[in-house]
Amino acid sequence: PVTAEGLDRWLRRFAEVVHDHAAELTELDSAIGDADHGSNMDRGMRAVVGALDAGGAGDAGAMLKKAGMTLVSTVGGASGPLYGTFFLRVGGGLADGQAVDAAALGGALRAGLEGVVARGKAQQGDKTMVDALVPALDAYDAAVAGGAGIADALSAAADAAEAGCAATIPLVARKGRASYLGQRSAGHQDPGATSTALLLRSAADSLP
Ligand code: ADP
Ligand code: MG
Ligand code: MG
Repeated sequence: PVTAEGLDRWLRRFAEVVHDHAAELTELDSAIGDADHGSNMDRGMRAVVGALDAGGAGDAGAMLKKAGMTLVSTVGGASGPLYGTFFLRVGGGLADGQAVDAAALGGALRAGLEGVVARGKAQQGDKTMVDALVPALDAYDAAVAGGAGIADALSAAADAAEAGCAATIPLVARKGRASYLGQRSAGHQDPGATSTALLLRSAADSLP
């Protein structure tokens, strides 16, 4: 099952990976945005690690909610409220004190996606982080339906997120700053889909 320790490892791992990829994320955002996605995410996830180090969050759900609130309050860009909402909703999906099995984690992640969509109004194909999240969660659910455990389902989700991220390259952006470019946004990989693929890979590598 998913434990608070596993979620703590996930958040810390994601912070590390975002830090290591910050220049790349900012470079992607310089092509179709305002060149701050790497620094936004790095600042936000450093603050999340600071909050984890300060402790006292309590159970798994509360820990993710604290992470989400920290992102909302430390990242001014679109990604702060969107990632913040994601973690808040995932935390809400875990907050009932029940043991979190593969299906329950899938439900919580799905609640996170729904929060991102409710907040940002992006659909699949709009060239956003949603293009990595939707295939990831579909692959996760399919793996669980086929009898996979959390580790294998997260690994399938990470693979699908990476494919979804790569598939943003030819798309024309319809949400976020990149949409201001219209057709000129095509031919570039979306920065937020890229960080979301890192989020799922971090989960597969550290959460189980
Ligand atoms: P900003 O665009 O405010 O500078 P960031 O550069 O940190 O914020 O994040 C940009 C990323 O946010 C985009 O690459 C995209 O994936 C995501 N994004 C932007 N708007 C939306 C939206 N409405 N719904 C979902 N994701 C979005
Ligand atoms: Mg930006
Ligand atoms: Mg910005």
